[in-house]
Amino acid sequence: MTTQTDFVPPLHAETRYAFFFDVDGTLAAIKPRPDEVSIPVQVLDDLKRLAQQCEGAVALVSGRPIDQLDALASPLVLPIAGVHGAERRNSEGQITRIALAPATVTAISRELDAAIAALPGTSLENKGMAFALHYRQAPQYQQAIEQLAASLVARFPELVQQPGKCVVELKPQGVNKGAAIKDFMQHPPFAGRVPVFLGDDLTDEAGFIAVNALDGISIKVGAGTSNAQGRLSDVTAVYRWLAQTRIKTDEDVSTSVRS
Ligand SMILES: [Mg+2]
Repeated sequence: MTTQTDFVPPLHAETRYAFFFDVDGTLAAIKPRPDEVSIPVQVLDDLKRLAQQCEGAVALVSGRPIDQLDALASPLVLPIAGVHGAERRNSEGQITRIALAPATVTAISRELDAAIAALPGTSLENKGMAFALHYRQAPQYQQAIEQLAASLVARFPELVQQPGKCVVELKPQGVNKGAAIKDFMQHPPFAGRVPVFLGDDLTDEAGFIAVNALDGISIKVGAGTSNAQGRLSDVTAVYRWLAQTRIKTDEDVSTSVRS
């Protein structure tokens, strides 16, 4: 529950927007386990309509890998920044990945496997180039997880620590949602549009800052201090906003000029 008042800067009918959505906690309610999460069919329909209205300029920007995001968004196939932008798929389906040296991945995996095994209820999610240390089922180990992440970052300077809700991630230096959104915005169908970004967690703050710098609209979902301009109280409020968001297509605009 939150006492935050919902406020979203109004979208203007004649402006061409590009939309970026975080997934967990924004398009999908958070569940005890990440594999229990889903996006309602109605919400997928609304995303599809939005994409049709803005020439496909709708992307997911998430800490999850692309394959998990595709499964959640199915049957939609959207441009995606996965693993906070370490994996990218553009509107033409081309995938780019930031890789760590294989020996580094092996060393980190081995060390984290052993450390996590000693903290019952915590779990390690190995994303190949990033590592999520989950403690939702064992909140008593939050500090131990943070110390573990800090000790890895101290020895592997190619990684940075990314805190989130009941998770600490280790991700490649320079990878963040702000960089991912800025990159999307340089290419069609996003280029030349005004970015709108919705997210709920600390990892989304880099995205809000990037979108603000691009004179876009940033919306924080849930309570807590944020760099975002707008606020929606929870996932249900996002669904409501999404359902009533109507962007005029170029065709609508020319029709209204003619009539
Ligand atoms: Mg989220």
